[in-house]
Amino acid sequence: MKIADIRITHHQLPLDPPFPAAWDTQPRRKFPATIVRVTDDEGRTGIGSGDALYGFHDYAHLFVGQDPRHLDRHAAVLDNISFHAGRCWPLEIALWDLAGQIEGRPIWQMVGSAGSRVPAYASFGTHRSAQETAALAVTAADRGFPALKLRFGRPRLEDDFAVLAAVRRAVGDRLQLLVDCNQGWRMPWDTQPPWVFAQALEVAQELARYDVFWMEEPLHRADYAGMARLRGATTVKIAGGEGTREIYEFYTLLERGCLDVYQPDVAWTGGMTQLRALAHAVADAGCLFTPHTWGNGIGLMANMHLTAGTVGAPFLEFPWDPPFWTTARRDFMLTAPIEVDTAGGLACSNAPGLGLSVDEATLAATLSATTTYA
Ligand SMILES: [Mg+2]
Repeated sequence: MKIADIRITHHQLPLDPPFPAAWDTQPRRKFPATIVRVTDDEGRTGIGSGDALYGFHDYAHLFVGQDPRHLDRHAAVLDNISFHAGRCWPLEIALWDLAGQIEGRPIWQMVGSAGSRVPAYASFGTHRSAQETAALAVTAADRGFPALKLRFGRPRLEDDFAVLAAVRRAVGDRLQLLVDCNQGWRMPWDTQPPWVFAQALEVAQELARYDVFWMEEPLHRADYAGMARLRGATTVKIAGGEGTREIYEFYTLLERGCLDVYQPDVAWTGGMTQLRALAHAVADAGCLFTPHTWGNGIGLMANMHLTAGTVGAPFLEFPWDPPFWTTARRDFMLTAPIEVDTAGGLACSNAPGLGLSVDEATLAATLSATTTYA
């Protein structure tokens, strides 16, 4: 059994109205997606997505002709490529999808069979008025979500807190509230410096008054000392790691006690093989493992399988902020968008691999030579 072909295509979904992502200074008029398909010599195809696979072309020959089921070997080669070139972890997702089809098993079973479902939190992505945000928060609670994530980062911090106060008033204790400070990394064109410790501490103390469950990326991703100090100075859990590129950095974060909540995205960092091990290390340290999933439905599904099948989580990110960010936009490449069940949870199916099918007509109509948001 051999890998016969690896095909990478880029796509852009036009966004009208644009999506004003809270962490981006430029409104997004297009939603890019890179799709990787790995086909074996018996005609099965695995799919992956979540990163642009910059620089992969020069290394494709390291996979073609190999047995697709040698997942540890593929993960090791991809880890080397992430050092020499770019992050190409979507290929690893595609290989797991293909291996699952060959074995006739869903990925949640392949990574450990701990479970197939995980509760979801509604992850908002925009800065809207207090009134609008509170109304959507009530809708989220009514739909069964156990938790909701708000975005800070408005020009005035007092406006962020006014939104948080309005949401807490509107939902009471029906929802756990999470706040993403988005200080860990920046878009390429955004040179605004991250918060320093004193700013983050001041915000943390105020968040505690609203019984916020976790504070996400309060400091730059490399400020290990600041995160550890902040963690010791507040009752609010400290979350982070979504943009951390190297798997060893997560173990350093663990050793130094930097975070309560670890958020590696399987489509961005490490892949299934390495994150499966990390998930157990995080759980063994008494911390939470609940990946970042902001991207498209293929990455979301991969993170669902990984999380549900290994150590589980109190809730997993579900990007959802209608009408700006809908499941139809997020999952445009799939034949059916991923939705939460009536109890606000995400269930992996028993279909082999990821259990997804792509919408070929939409992919053909959205083909693009570029991978950008503009
Ligand atoms: Mg985040």
